[in-house]
Amino acid sequence: MQVTILGATGSIGLSTLDVIARHPERYQAFALTAFSRIAELRNLCHLHRPRYAVVDDSARARELQAQLDGDGIKTRVLVGEGGLSEVSAHPEVDIVMAAIVGAAGLRPTLAAVQASKRVLLANKEALVMSGALFMQALRDSDAVLLPIDSEHNAIYQCLPGNYSDGLHNVGVRRILLTASGGPFRTLPIEQLSSVTVDQACAHPNWSMGRKISVDSASMMNKGLELIEACWLFDARPDQIEVVIHPQSVIHSMVDYIDGSVLAQLGNPDMRTPIAHALAWPERIDSGVSALDLLQTGRLDFEAPDQQRFPCLRIARQAAQEGGTAPAMLNAANEIAVDAFLNGRIRFTEIASIIEGVLDREVAVEARCLADIFDADARARALASSWLNDRNR
Ligand code: NAD
Ligand code: MG
Repeated sequence: MQVTILGATGSIGLSTLDVIARHPERYQAFALTAFSRIAELRNLCHLHRPRYAVVDDSARARELQAQLDGDGIKTRVLVGEGGLSEVSAHPEVDIVMAAIVGAAGLRPTLAAVQASKRVLLANKEALVMSGALFMQALRDSDAVLLPIDSEHNAIYQCLPGNYSDGLHNVGVRRILLTASGGPFRTLPIEQLSSVTVDQACAHPNWSMGRKISVDSASMMNKGLELIEACWLFDARPDQIEVVIHPQSVIHSMVDYIDGSVLAQLGNPDMRTPIAHALAWPERIDSGVSALDLLQTGRLDFEAPDQQRFPCLRIARQAAQEGGTAPAMLNAANEIAVDAFLNGRIRFTEIASIIEGVLDREVAVEARCLADIFDADARARALASSWLNDRNR
């Protein structure tokens, strides 16, 4: 099977390449895309010999093409959003791993859905932004959407095959979305305003890209995942409960009306959900070692601290509000996290910026993609102007 990896140089992209390289008879890299790490992309082209590589701008594309030609590698280099959508929808592609971070992944991921691919969704922001339209595009196509987010992949594994008949019809009482609580779960709350970027990016259990690491520290990641779960499993926000589970061994649970609770467990390594989704409904080796429960010892659970993690409440409100509110939430968060990563704001200001944007910008119905990109742009502009005023 031919696999396109959108965001091949990232954490999820590299884990995907690790899994497919274990099964060369089954999977080939068809296209690999990158944004900034071009030297790394060149290296990946050497290792995986994809038909196409896609980079962000034409000058970089020409440079990479010349290097690959010089190396005797036949990969053709394409450019920009057009290139991304081309390799997502290409007739020879079977599987698209959507692993670009943030709103930039929405159009190419939708292109893969519209072209009826098997779409492996890591790029949660795409679904959070465009929820109803994305799910409609899925119903209008023959695409198969499989969640890569470890929680959603776990929930998917714990639900019966006919869950799309409605959670109530398959006897589900609620979904228990687990969260590690990130690096600041036990930090004295008054110290949150002075945490550093390195502290925020040092996740206790998972090794991930910088944006999602900060989202995990603020628990906005869980807020985005709550919205993601509502769309994927056709659930209402009140059917999803967030439970902190610091060991990250249980990846989420489904609670049924007869009292059964099904959980999916495993070592915290994204190659497990990636291998699950690549091979589904079959199973393949992922390279992840067997879970040693005796070594794990204990599994703890606690309720999230609302005061410590305001982003969770803000995201739940946006989920309830619907329309373009989740797109604005996501856009304001992207601007705020970027500002934090660049040393422009304190960690605790991330939540204030997002809440300020959602208080001032009115959400409207999202009838088409233009409505979503419009809300996204307005939220980004408002968050940016807030940052500029503040730094003046
Ligand atoms: P990362 O930062 O490590 O990688 C991001 C990838 O996207 C890189 O290949 C980068 O080149 C590309 N990219 C970034 N901006 C781009 C742009 N504007 N246009 C085109 N390409 C661009 O991120 P990651 O940790 O691999 O996360 C990727 C996605 O998967 C995110 O949506 C994240 O929320 C989700 N996810 C990640 C993990 C994890 O363990 N890392 C777990 C669950 C979900
Ligand atoms: Mg997750």
